Amino acid sequence: MATKSILQETQQIERAVSLIRLGARLQVLESETDLSYERLLKLYKEVAGRSPSKGQLPFSTDWFLTWQPNIHSSLFLNVHGYLSKTSDLDGIDIVIKAYKLYSEQISACGLEPQLSITRAWRLVKFVDNKMLQMTTCSCCGGHFVTEPYENARHFVCGLCRPPARAGKGASLGNIQMQ
Ligand SMILES: [Zn+2]
Repeated sequence: MATKSILQETQQIERAVSLIRLGARLQVLESETDLSYERLLKLYKEVAGRSPSKGQLPFSTDWFLTWQPNIHSSLFLNVHGYLSKTSDLDGIDIVIKAYKLYSEQISACGLEPQLSITRAWRLVKFVDNKMLQMTTCSCCGGHFVTEPYENARHFVCGLCRPPARAGKGASLGNIQMQ
């Protein structure tokens, strides 16, 4: 086993603490740091002040394709894509930074974030594994999360064509996807 430097370990702990503060599930920490399960559990209790929730992670891509979650997911993924291109941060640090920016933008619109950090992390994995992709809306030109092989020529996003059941009260305000 390679010896870890104190600096590397400090970075891992900082990462884990950021993820816990954002509400990440323990499985995300296990996947994204080299810290042992016991240490992560201890860290989680110390930072969150409670034990981590148990149970499976969401495995389905369906949630990301339903109307409002899709708009939130797309906003996050646009920020994530921008940071991936313009920064040299590590993968998980881009997820953390993009999630913070997403939350700030949603709060600035007077809305609650619907996407959790755990789902945001899953979303990036789904896109990496080509189980979901970004498609450009043929109407507004924004980029949205869709199933793979969505036909971009005919694709119209959920902001341009909200479902009838959405109604006026469900407006998403000033969110722009360009
Ligand atoms: Zn559109």
